[in-house]
Amino acid sequence: MSEKYEILACMEHVDRAIDDYVNCMEAAPQLNKANKEEKCAYCQKTAEYLIK
Ligand SMILES: [Zn+2]
Repeated sequence: MSEKYEILACMEHVDRAIDDYVNCMEAAPQLNKANKEEKCAYCQKTAEYLIK
């Protein structure tokens, strides 16, 4: 069973998002540019990246 795990992150929190992804999924994440106006999962800034 593959669970979907996606994190939106701003420039400042992208490293933390990658760490969280690796801890949760035990796999290397894909780093994508966030294309919508969405908030970072760790602060109130606009997300720059979508980690999945
Ligand atoms: Zn942030």
